[in-house]
Amino acid sequence: MPRQVRFFIVAVVAACLPAIVFVHLSCDTALQTYALDIDGVHGIPLERLLWRQGVYPITGVFAGGAYYDWADEAYRSQWYIPALITSGGRLIVSGRSSDDGVAAVITVPRPELSILDVAPTAGGALGLKGDFDGRCVYPANATQVVVIYVDALGWQRYEWGRPAMSNLSALGPAPAIDVYPSISVVNAAALVTGVMPERSGVDRWERRTMRTGVDNVIDLAARHGVSAAWIDGPRPPVTTATGIISLEDADGDGTTDDEVTARAMAEYEAGTRLLYVHLRGPDRALHASGPYSNRSLAALAQADAQIGTMVRSLKPGTLLIITADHGGHDIAGGKGEHGTLLPEDMIIPFIARAC
Ligand SMILES: [Zn+2]
Repeated sequence: MPRQVRFFIVAVVAACLPAIVFVHLSCDTALQTYALDIDGVHGIPLERLLWRQGVYPITGVFAGGAYYDWADEAYRSQWYIPALITSGGRLIVSGRSSDDGVAAVITVPRPELSILDVAPTAGGALGLKGDFDGRCVYPANATQVVVIYVDALGWQRYEWGRPAMSNLSALGPAPAIDVYPSISVVNAAALVTGVMPERSGVDRWERRTMRTGVDNVIDLAARHGVSAAWIDGPRPPVTTATGIISLEDADGDGTTDDEVTARAMAEYEAGTRLLYVHLRGPDRALHASGPYSNRSLAALAQADAQIGTMVRSLKPGTLLIITADHGGHDIAGGKGEHGTLLPEDMIIPFIARAC
C-alpha cells in the first residue's frame, strides 16, 4: 500500500453487495476541526473520515480483529458514535483500541438521488440558476414550486409506515441520500443551498449560519423578484436572510404542523412561487419513542394527512417535491436518534413531479 497516499482506499470488493471498503486511517489538518472528546478519548470521528472519503452508508466496521455492528454502536451511543481516530493513527471504538492503521468498512448501495438535488430542481423550475453541488433531476418550468420535507422520515421508516402513508406512497417516492451528519440543521442547509456541508459552513450541530457568499434558493429567489417562503415552527433550522415564516402552536395541540400546513396553503393560494414546508411531527415521535413505535406510526399518518391536504390543493403548473432531512435509528431506552452514517439515518424518500 503506498504510504504517501494519505487517504487511500486500498481495495473495493464489489462483486457482491454490500461491499467491503478498506480505509486507511489517517487524518489531515482539515479533519482536525472535527476533533471531539468522547469518554476521555480525543480524536477525529471515524465517520468524518468515511464521509470525506465517500464511504457511506455503512452497517459495520472491522478493525483490530473485532467487528463492530454499526446499528449496535449507534444504539448504545446518544450522539456521535464513540469511534475516534487519535493523533497517533490509533482507532478506538467503544473503548477497544486498534493500531492496524486500516479498517474494513461494510457499505450498502447509495442512491443516486441526493438531498442536494432539491435546491437546483426547485430553483431550475423557476429559472433560478446557482452554483450547486446537486443536480436538477426534474427539468421543468413551473409557476409555483412546493417543497414539503418531513423531519426524520427515513426511507426505512417510510417503508415501515407505508400502510399509514397512502398519500405519499401513491406518489411513488424513490430513495435518496442525505448529507453527514444526518441531523436537521445540516440537512436543512443542504435542502436550501444545494451545496455540501463543508461548502455551506453548516457542517455540525453548533454551526447553523451559512458561510457568506454561499447562496440559497430562498434568498436567490428574493433577489430575482420571485416570491419565496420557508414555513416552519419555532426556531427554524435554517438561517436564510429572507422568507422565514416561523409559527407558534396557536391552537395548543402540541404541534405546529397544522399551523404550518394551513399557512403553506394560504401562501400557495396567494401566489408565493417557492415554498419550503417543514413538518416536524415524525422527528418528535422518533426521539420520544423510537422510529418504529405506535407513536411514530401515528405521527407518520398525521404527516401523510397533511401532505394529502396540500397535494390535493395544487394546481397544474406546480412542481411538487417531497423529501426528508434524515431518518433515524433506535437507541437504548425505547427512544430514537439520528446523525450517523447508518442507512436508516442517511437514506430518505424523494419525489419530484409536475402537477
Ligand atoms: Zn431529530
